[in-house]
Amino acid sequence: MAKKGSDTRPGTRLVTGGRRAEWTGAAVNPPVWRTSTHLYEDSADLAAGRPNEDGHFYYGRRGTPTQWALADALTDIEPGADGTVLYPSGVAAIAGALLAVLKPGDVLLVTDNAYEPTRSIAQGLLKRFGIDARFFDPLDLAAYEDAFCERTAAVMLESPGSLTMEVCDVPALARIARDNGAVSVIDNTWASPLGFAPLDHGCDISVMSLTKHVGGHSDVMMGSASAGKAWHRKLRLTAQSLGTVVSPDDAALVLRGLRTMGVRLAQSTAAALEIARWLDARPEVARVLCPMLPGAPGHALWRRDFTGGCGLFSIVLSGRGEAERARFVDALELFGIGFSWGGYESLVVPFDPPRSATSWPPADLAANPGAAIRLSIGLEDPADLVADLDRAFAAMDNR
Ligand SMILES: *Cc1c(COP(=O)(O)O)cnc(C)c1O
Repeated sequence: MAKKGSDTRPGTRLVTGGRRAEWTGAAVNPPVWRTSTHLYEDSADLAAGRPNEDGHFYYGRRGTPTQWALADALTDIEPGADGTVLYPSGVAAIAGALLAVLKPGDVLLVTDNAYEPTRSIAQGLLKRFGIDARFFDPLDLAAYEDAFCERTAAVMLESPGSLTMEVCDVPALARIARDNGAVSVIDNTWASPLGFAPLDHGCDISVMSLTKHVGGHSDVMMGSASAGKAWHRKLRLTAQSLGTVVSPDDAALVLRGLRTMGVRLAQSTAAALEIARWLDARPEVARVLCPMLPGAPGHALWRRDFTGGCGLFSIVLSGRGEAERARFVDALELFGIGFSWGGYESLVVPFDPPRSATSWPPADLAANPGAAIRLSIGLEDPADLVADLDRAFAAMDNR
């Protein structure tokens, strides 16, 4: 049965998704159902069992309408998805998805510019289970294709790459994976389905840290994995075996964030582009690593495949090192120093090029050690953020 509003545009589905009268009656927002236990009518009702899918009370670990509504809303905005599994964090979603698709003896190919904890999962947890992780340069399609072997069961993608922000040719990478019988999992946290639709571009499983754009208010941690029918079932069964469940309170918070994600992303994307342009013209900046900026690495692929951006990008200072970077970061007043991103508040974090053997990092990063900085543009007035950056540049060079 087609759901109400299922033929609408993504901006509308953000509002209508997950609002099912059969789950939560006439309430606009699903109540927070705090319960571990569902009471059955009688022995016959208990014996009748319940299908293992959202929408059927069974026991708290399988969720309540609060969690189902969020999962359903996320499925609604993910083109090609049949269902979504929620995890207590983005890292739990990555680990959960990889554990759902891999078995001992398998080889996993991991993009070399992946989120650092993804590297750790591949090199630590998965290794202990006899899974062999190999890293590849996502901009070198020929070498990537050569990396496949009989045992390659999955590829882990991320675009743009964490920190260094290169956009890769996801449709080509996913097609090569499929041709080689491997499942492709992608970390789509940066773009969200509003900016890039992974399953429509050949990927099998789309993972997000909901802690970032979807939650949007730096007050909750959660992750998700969305997929078509077959992979969704595997994700679900694996998550159930691991016992991962998210609290109804957190699900309600994330669902509230989801409703306004469209306007928040539009605002932070526009502000980020304005600030990226301003930074690009500064003599103190060697490179702006922002896919939305014309001329930046990956911009052509971003234009081809993406329908949106966000407030997260990086810069490389020109001819300056760790000491200047520290002075710059410390002089910022509106940008808090901290991890995470995608919240309403702007953040800054210095970073050093990821340890990798392939063509990363870009030449400017290598030429300016200790000079890379990541910015997350929030919802402040961009003119104030520019003034803050301007002040910090002055402080950087004024010892
Ligand atoms: C933050 C982040 C994650 C992990 O999310 P948590 O909710 O913090 O566990 C995964 N991928 C990317 C790209 C991230 O930036």
